[in-house]
Amino acid sequence: MKKLTIAIDGPAGAGKSTVAQIAARCLKYTYIDTGAMYRAVTWLAMTRKISPQNSQALTDEVCKVDLKLELVEDKTMVYVDGIDVTEQIRTPEVSRKVAEIAQIPEIREVLILKQREMARLGGVVMDGRDISSCVLPDADVKIFLTASIEERAKRRWQELISTGVNVSLKNITHDIASRDKKDYEREIAPLKQVPDAMLIDTTGLTIEDTVQRILDACKERSGVV
Ligand code: C5P
Repeated sequence: MKKLTIAIDGPAGAGKSTVAQIAARCLKYTYIDTGAMYRAVTWLAMTRKISPQNSQALTDEVCKVDLKLELVEDKTMVYVDGIDVTEQIRTPEVSRKVAEIAQIPEIREVLILKQREMARLGGVVMDGRDISSCVLPDADVKIFLTASIEERAKRRWQELISTGVNVSLKNITHDIASRDKKDYEREIAPLKQVPDAMLIDTTGLTIEDTVQRILDACKERSGVV
């Protein structure tokens, strides 16, 4: 089968990273979590105390550091200058701040170039908000994954609780809704479903069913039906 480029977009908690990772494993493709890159930049801004208003200083810093994603036993490990920030980028504090950082045009420019380079050889499943619309507009398969806000918040809450982070479902629902608003309404590369993307609403769908739909779309695209 030809090595495809698969773009998966959608709002927070829609299950993108879970299904993208499983689909990548089934196809023996590389999985790229672009949200982790925006989170790593947010972590960098917070730890180095650079205000999002000072976009030039932050962009300079991002260009200087070595930002690496590495898939280890089904987990995307994230390193900034060799420091393992995998857990730190998932805290509620980073989640609350990331959509603001992701609105900075210069930061998007730098990360988009990195993402295109990572996808250059094909055989990738990349997830994010602007993959189909901006990063890889020629992707072979485009998926828009969504679910109800209640379901998305519940999934994120369970994920955090299972890793020992103590948060209320109400706060998580509020945080996700406010991040969605920023992602959908921002001027540059807003979250949207492109016309040629396949919509999958994962509310009430199992992970296996969702992955199967994506694999079926890939088969169809490669002409192996
Ligand atoms: O995917 P995840 O929820 O980890 O993404 C965190 C945030 O990073 C999103 O809410 C969004 O603001 C930003 N993001 C983006 N473009 C992408 C991926 C993520 O703006 N391609």
